[in-house]
Amino acid sequence: MCPRCMQCDTKFDFITRKHHCRRCGKCFCDKCCSKKVPLPRMCFVDPVRQCAECALISQKETEFYDKQLKVLMNGKDRMHLYALSISFIFIQMRC
Ligand SMILES: [Zn+2]
Ligand SMILES: [Zn+2]
Repeated sequence: MCPRCMQCDTKFDFITRKHHCRRCGKCFCDKCCSKKVPLPRMCFVDPVRQCAECALISQKETEFYDKQLKVLMNGKDRMHLYALSISFIFIQMRC
């Protein structure tokens, strides 16, 4: 149970609805958890509700996936494939 927003400390009641960030699972008010970003790592391709902090990370991750996917489609560069797998491991470790 979390009676308050973990970002701005606003108390939840029947006016201030509680929302869960799809990424970190913490509780936030509507204001602090209003960003909707796709979460490819968690297989959420449609934008899902995330807190500001997670939205920023997810946005970067999505851009990363997009960019790498395009490069991967364009050529069969083995060296690049290797670099990509390293990057993926890095992302997994960070979370
Ligand atoms: Zn809040
Ligand atoms: Zn979050």
